[in-house]
Amino acid sequence: MTEELEHTTGESSAPENAPGRQEMSVDNRLGADVVTGSNDVLSWGARSDVGLVREHNEDSFLLRAPLFAVSDGMGGHAAGEVASSITVQTINQQAPAGADDVLLGAAVEAANRAVIQGSTEGLGKPGMGCTATAALIERDKIAIAHVGDSRIYLLHHGALVRITHDHSYVEELVDSGQITADEARVHPSRSIVTRALGSDPDMYADHFTLEVGTGDRIILCSDGLSGMITDAEIEALAVSSATPQQAADNLVAAALSAGGADNVTVIVVDILNDGLADQARDRLKRQAIQALSLMMAVFLLIGLGVIWLIRSEWYLRTNNGEVAIYQGIHEEIFGYPLYELIGTSSIKVEDLPSAVQEQLKIGIPVANEQSARDTLDAYRRQIDDDKTRAAEVADDLHAKGVTEVAPQDQTPAPASTGGAS
Ligand code: MN
Repeated sequence: MTEELEHTTGESSAPENAPGRQEMSVDNRLGADVVTGSNDVLSWGARSDVGLVREHNEDSFLLRAPLFAVSDGMGGHAAGEVASSITVQTINQQAPAGADDVLLGAAVEAANRAVIQGSTEGLGKPGMGCTATAALIERDKIAIAHVGDSRIYLLHHGALVRITHDHSYVEELVDSGQITADEARVHPSRSIVTRALGSDPDMYADHFTLEVGTGDRIILCSDGLSGMITDAEIEALAVSSATPQQAADNLVAAALSAGGADNVTVIVVDILNDGLADQARDRLKRQAIQALSLMMAVFLLIGLGVIWLIRSEWYLRTNNGEVAIYQGIHEEIFGYPLYELIGTSSIKVEDLPSAVQEQLKIGIPVANEQSARDTLDAYRRQIDDDKTRAAEVADDLHAKGVTEVAPQDQTPAPASTGGAS
């Protein structure tokens, strides 16, 4: 056995061609439990098989994305499967909504108490027990709670890493350097589990959280897989299988090909979207909106400033032959006048000196509205004075016998731009 497995290890990159093995297919396997599914962020596949030696499958598994769990029952028929079934049901009920490993560990510990309680109430058999390995994936985090010798592997960039620590006698031997991981797999005491659910009410679960990312593949399995083939073989199959279901099928097939000595359960979960790209996109969008808002605010301020500048300009100009007060600049932009007619006066432009008339055609700037009105008053006075003077001249001339004076003979009044300007 050892020799054969060592031989196999040497050809681990192509386990399906390993000599001494009969190639097994999982197609149409009786009693196999297969579940496939996916959502926006995860894709998963699972297969649980009784194996080639055992008569009953005492493994149970839970697929309730993003929560996944494997439980390997112990205690023989009518006991192991009861313990593992109680365990996955309890984890299903007690697991947190998010990737909180403390709460997930608490769910596993609740499952332990439920198994103990079950055996005292006549469910299953006394002494029944099981492992529990649960994972809850939330965006870029995976929370893990774990007891026993079922495992979780993470395939990241083509490299497989085991992320759970077996609670087993042989794992302690490996940890203390007495045997290798390959030797542990075939060690006579390999099935001794040092921590399990179902016996100690104070049992605690290992729990921790890891970062994961888009493209990562997570594998949960019972020891029916990891006890039959090497981690290198698991890695090769995990890398070469396109979909999670194909990976689960190929891994179970490899375990069967290697002898199928135990029940074998494999859950494979692919992370399709860890949400980080979405977050980055949202952040960019938010920044763009902020920049745009700032630009619009600046444009608005500039626009208000320009309007304020335009509105601070005043001038007098001819309007239908009369002098009128305008605010703004005598221009149009896109058909919209940049000026406003504020008021008209009854002052006829033609009554004003010709120099002033010329200026009024293009506009006479004034400081403000008051200044404009002052200038209009000055024009009125000037016109009145002119008329008075003209009347006096006319009276004088009349007295001298001249009856009419042509307007063009009037002495031009001094041009005035008036006001405060
Ligand atoms: Mn097992």
